[in-house]
Amino acid sequence: MEFSNFNDSLLSFLQSSPTPFHATASMRHALLAEGFTELLEEDDWVVEEGGKYFVTRNESSLIAFTTPQLNLSQSGWRMIGAHTDSPCLKLKPNAQVDRFGYHQLGVEVYGGVLLHTWLDRDLSIAGRITLKTKNGDIISRLVDFKDPIAVVPNLAIHLNPQANEGFSVNPQEEILPILCGAENEFDLHELLKSQLEKQYADLSIDMVLDFELSLYDTQPAALVGLHKEYICSARLDNLLSCFVGLRALLESDQQRPSLLICTDHEEIGSLSACGANGPFLEDVLRRLTPNPEQYVQTIQRSMLVSADNAHALHPNYAHKHDKNHAPSINKGAVIKVNANQRYATNSETASVYRDIAAEENYEVQCFVVRSDMSCGSTIGPITSGEIGVPTIDIGLPTFGMHSIRELAGSRDAFGLFKVLARFTKREKLIAR
Ligand SMILES: [Zn+2]
Repeated sequence: MEFSNFNDSLLSFLQSSPTPFHATASMRHALLAEGFTELLEEDDWVVEEGGKYFVTRNESSLIAFTTPQLNLSQSGWRMIGAHTDSPCLKLKPNAQVDRFGYHQLGVEVYGGVLLHTWLDRDLSIAGRITLKTKNGDIISRLVDFKDPIAVVPNLAIHLNPQANEGFSVNPQEEILPILCGAENEFDLHELLKSQLEKQYADLSIDMVLDFELSLYDTQPAALVGLHKEYICSARLDNLLSCFVGLRALLESDQQRPSLLICTDHEEIGSLSACGANGPFLEDVLRRLTPNPEQYVQTIQRSMLVSADNAHALHPNYAHKHDKNHAPSINKGAVIKVNANQRYATNSETASVYRDIAAEENYEVQCFVVRSDMSCGSTIGPITSGEIGVPTIDIGLPTFGMHSIRELAGSRDAFGLFKVLARFTKREKLIAR
C-alpha cells in the first residue's frame, strides 16, 4: 500500500469501527478480501504451508497469521500486537432513565474516559445485540445507528461559574445522554428491534434478549492542520495500531511466519477470555505447535512488537514530560521503556527494532515517564508475562489520549507500517 491511499484507508477503518466488535469485523473483511481463511476455535484445524488464516474470539478479538513455513520451532513468529477497545460510555442493562421531561440513557464508564470531552458531541450508538429468532436460536448481530441520536449537553457557565478553574463530571448523574423529550413514547427494546430489522431484513426476530452497546462520536475522522499534518479521530488508541499491524501483515510477503493479535479489554486490564491476559494467544500457538518442547523453542525464537499509542510532548503542558524522553508528533514511532516493567521493552528487543527502523530510514523516538509520575501500561508486559515471548512496547506519538477526539501525526502511521512490514520479513532477531 502506498502513502497516497494509506491515510484514506486508515480514516475509513476508523469510521467503520465504532466498537471492538466492529473493529474486529472490519479486520475480518479485509483479511477475507486478501484471501485469508477463517478458522473456528470449535473446529479441527488444518493449517498448511503457505497458508493465511485468522480466528476471532467473542467477535471482539482477532488473531491472524501466515505460515510460509511450518517448522515454527526453527523460525519462530514475527508477532504484532494491539488492542481493539477504547474508553467509552456503555449502556447499562436497564438503560432507560426518564427524568424531568426527558428520555435519557443510563451509562457505565468503560476504561479511563476523559469524561468532559463527551459533552456537546453528536453521539450515536453501536455494538452487539443478542436475540432469539423465531426458530428458537440465540444469535448475535452487530448494529450501528450511525445517525446522531443522543447528546450530553454541557452546563452553562452562568450556572457553574468556576467551570474554567477545574471541572469535574459525576459519572452517575452528569454524563447521561438525552435521547428525546418525554412527550415521545420511548422503549429501548423496541428501538433495538427496529434497528435490527432495518439492518438485517431477513432476520426473523422473536425478541431482543440482551445487548452490549456503547456511545460514540459521529464526527468523522479527518486530516487537520495547516498542512494536514494531523489525524483527528475517536479511538486512535488503539485502532491506529490495529490498522498499521493489519496492513503490515497483509504486506508481509509470507517470508517468515507472522502473526497479528488484536485483543479486547486492554482499557480495563486485559483479564478476560478474549483479553491479552486470557488464554487466547496461547490456545492458538499451542494448536500450531502442540509438542511442548517445540512450543518453548518457538516462543523463544519469536519476537512481539506490542503497538499502543504514546504521549507526545504537548506544547501547552511541556512540564509533564522528561525532556530527554519527550516524543514529537510526526517524528516517528516511540520506543516505550519503564524500569518497573510497565512496558516490556528490553535492550535486545529495542535494538532489533532500531535496526529495522534504520534499514527503513525511519526515525525512532523514546518515551520514559517522569520519575515523579506513575506510568501507564499496555498489552506488551501482559502478553510477555503470559507466554514468555521477547517483547518491545512501541507506539505512535499522540495528544489527548482517551479524549473522545485524539490527535496523531499523518506521517507517522505510514512510517510504522513500513517498519512493521519489514519486521515480518526479517530473518535475524537476537543471536544466541
Ligand atoms: Zn491503548
